[in-house]
Amino acid sequence: MERLITGLRNDAEGQWIADLECGHSRHVRHTPPWEVRPWILDEVSRRGHLGTPLECRRCDAPDAASGDGGAYDDARMRGLCHDGAMEIARTIKEEPDVPKHQDPVQLRPSRHR
Ligand SMILES: [Zn+2]
Repeated sequence: MERLITGLRNDAEGQWIADLECGHSRHVRHTPPWEVRPWILDEVSRRGHLGTPLECRRCDAPDAASGDGGAYDDARMRGLCHDGAMEIARTIKEEPDVPKHQDPVQLRPSRHR
């Protein structure tokens, strides 16, 4: 589903993220031949793309999208088919690769003296 771009920003790794009118956001990469968007590399071109439509896969597949941190999009960008990407998004949701801290509350006094 096509949504208008309302903003463009960098993530922590310096990748470009487009904020869309639907409230979703997605990475916009220039990684030919998979993703060919040379306009993302140039500030003037980026501004020219504000307000233009971008395909929002999260609106197309809301069941794979919520809270997966973009795993579906990333899988699609790596060349996986829709089913494969859905599978990865589900797997990551069940088994986050960032381990959760077992003891978030530090009860013991600081180890550093
Ligand atoms: Zn959307």
